This record gives sequence, C-alpha cells and structure tokens, in this order.
Amino acid sequence: MKEKFDIIVIGAGLSSLMFLVKYVKKHPQQKILLLDKDHDKKNDQTFCVWQGPDIINLTEEFDIQPKKVWGKIMLDFQNRSIKKVMSPYNYKAYDGKKTLSSLLRSCKKNITYKNNCEVVQVKKNGLFYVITKDSSVYSSQTLVDSRHYNNTYDSKEMLYQAFYGSEVEMPTNTFDETTVTLMSFKENKNDIEFTYILPYTKKIALIETTFFAKNPNINDIKLKHEEKLKQYGKYTLLRSEEGILPMGNIKTDKEGSYLKIGISAGMIRPSSGYSMIRIANWINQIEDTELNQQNLSKFRFKSPWLLNWLDKQFLKVCFYRPEMAPELFMSLFSKAKIGSVVRFMADKPTINDVIAVIQALPKKIMIKYLIK
Ligand SMILES: Cc1cc2nc3c(=O)[nH]c(=O)nc-3n(C[C@H](O)[C@H](O)[C@H](O)COP(=O)(O)OP(=O)(O)OC[C@H]3O[C@@H](n4cnc5c(N)ncnc54)[C@H](O)[C@@H]3O)c2cc1C
Repeated sequence: MKEKFDIIVIGAGLSSLMFLVKYVKKHPQQKILLLDKDHDKKNDQTFCVWQGPDIINLTEEFDIQPKKVWGKIMLDFQNRSIKKVMSPYNYKAYDGKKTLSSLLRSCKKNITYKNNCEVVQVKKNGLFYVITKDSSVYSSQTLVDSRHYNNTYDSKEMLYQAFYGSEVEMPTNTFDETTVTLMSFKENKNDIEFTYILPYTKKIALIETTFFAKNPNINDIKLKHEEKLKQYGKYTLLRSEEGILPMGNIKTDKEGSYLKIGISAGMIRPSSGYSMIRIANWINQIEDTELNQQNLSKFRFKSPWLLNWLDKQFLKVCFYRPEMAPELFMSLFSKAKIGSVVRFMADKPTINDVIAVIQALPKKIMIKYLIK
C-alpha cells in the first residue's frame, strides 16, 4: 500500500518534535507522517538549557515543564573555585523522556504517527518513497530527515564530548541543591576531564563524568565514573545516561532534495553539545512559512558563523593544549559578566557579549591558535 502525505518526517526525536509542535499549529491543512524506529525505548537523557532575558523561553513556547531550575553555578580546578549567581538568568533541566512524550502529545492529533517503523530506504522518483522495515511504503512531496549521519566537519581538529552519568540517591543530605556544578575539572594531560553535577534535591543528583577527547572510549569513561562514585559511599542508582557528541562545525547541505534537521543539520553547538536552544531559535524563524519543495532553502539551518568561528578557535586550543582548557573556562567564568557568558552559550550574544567573552579568554594562548 502506498499512502501519500504532504510531508514525511523521519525520526521522532527532539528536533522533529519541537519542529512539529509549532509547525502543525500554523499549517493544520498539511498531511504529515512522522515515523520513528523506536521512540519509547531510548531517550533516557537530560536536556539542560540556559534561560532568561533575550533567550527563547522553552517552557512557554513548547509547554514543557522543567524538572528543576537553578540560579547558581560553580566551576572548580585544583584549589580554585568560582561560584556565580546567575539572576536574572537560570539553568533548567528537562527530563528527556517526559519532554519528548509531552511534545509528542502536543502534535499527535494533527499528524499521523507511526512508532516501531524503521526507515530502511528512501527513493526519489518525482515523489519521495519511504520504505520501512515491515515493507510499508509511504510517499510524499517533501521529506524531513532527523536521522544521525556520519557528517563531515570543517576542521581536522575534531574532539568528542563523551559522558557517562548516574542519577543517584544518597541516604543522607549530600548535595547543595541550589548550585549546579558545571565543571569540576580533574588534572589530565591528554584529555579534558570534569565532573558535572545536577543536584535535584539534597539527596538526589545526576553526576556525570565528562571527557572532551580525540578518541573517547565510553567503557573506560564508565569505569572512571564508577570509581569516582565510590567517594560517596553507599547510594541507590536511579538511572543512568551516556552520550558521545561530536564537537565540530558540520559541513551542512546548502542544497539537496530533502531537508535535514537536528544534529546532522548542525543544530548542535560545537563547543557545548547543546542543541535545544538552537532548534527552538530555528523553528521561531520559519514556523510561519509553509514547507514545500520550492522553499526548502528557507528551512535549512544556517549556523551563526561568528559563534561557530569562535567555537572553532576555542576547540583548537582544547585539541592541541587540553591541559590549558580548565584555565580557559575558569578565566571565562571569572572575568566576563555572567549575563554575557549565558547569552553567548545560549546562541544569543550581543556584539558586546562577544567582545566580553574574547577579552575574558587568556590572550596569549588564544592568539597563538587564531593563526594556527
Ligand atoms: C545523553 C545526552 C544528553 C544530552 N544533553 C543535552 C542537554 O543537556 N542540552 C542540550 O541542548 N542537548 C543535549 N544533548 C544533545 C541533543 O540535544 C540531543 O542529542 C537531541 O536529542 C538531538 O536531537 P535530534 O533530533 O537531532 O536527534 P534525536 O533526538 O536522537 O532524534 C533522532 C530520531 O530519529 C530516530 N531514527 C533514527 N534512525 C531512524 C530510522 N532509520 N527510521 C526511523 N527513525 C529513526 C531515532 O529513534 C530518534 O528518535 C544530549 C544528548 C545526549 C545523547
């Protein structure tokens, strides 16, 4: 059977669902099919974002509720620590499963959704013909694809952000629930290594061991992580999450017959691995336009070149001089105003913020890698 649609979207992950929630409200007349190979099984992840003035408000825009909001962050390295009150900004954590379910609920009644429908082949013969594992065939004028591809990057200095995290419950009060530990650096000559802690309560926290590395091995990171957790004594493991995210500027499609979105379309910040705000900003710019074959170019994500360029220089330093990276981050957070850093991280810096960020970084090392 060949069922025909105006648009077929492959993958019911973060980018597709955020897109559809907004898009179907504006274009209810279009017949849209959403296919996912296994929406329910995975997605055990935590989405964190910076929020506050001038940054798109995800709770309001997408009707999703954060698991926790923090007003303070801290970083430390050796015996130095930096604590910052972020007001009027904050750091929000969204539970991955709940957020994706909530987004799916918001758009489900306006689309046709098929779960457990792995796409195995796409053919183009006038229309797109999408073939799934169970041999169903669906056709459409326009195709949106959020599958992850082996992308090409614009730099040979490739790093990966690899992390293993455990949400744990302690028998006694252990965490300062008001403060996120953004980066607690460890001394490491070869890679950048830090612990990230999201304290949900005094007893419950997500503790992640993170590496920025050239060739990370998630099993080794998991072992290091388990070793580190021993310092907490007895605890109950509530859940775990892991990921390996490329840190580089993706060479995105400038043309082509279909629309890539999500990670493979460059909607992920090279220096942080965060994508939620990028996806939301992208949708904000295009939701009024009707998607069809004639205007695909309006929908293609164009990453902010200045931010990408700065990320690239920054990642070069991390690539060639990983031992310098803790100093880079410590310098950034201690010297620049927190509002500038937050807007910079959230893809919404003013020119003054960019200048403040550049001025806060150690000059000698940055200049050296600017010209490398
Ligand atoms: C553990 C983890 C934590 C993260 N934390 C943050 C964070 O704190 N903040 C942040 O902004 N970003 C975070 N990210 C990065 C990023 O936001 C997420 O990876 C996000 O899910 C990317 O969205 P996406 O739509 O590109 O991909 P996905 O959400 O992975 O969606 C792709 C979808 O395509 C489906 N699919 C794949 N192949 C097929 C096929 N052949 N047929 C049908 N369907 C298919 C998959 O099942 C999946 O549902 C995190 C990533 C991970 C892995």
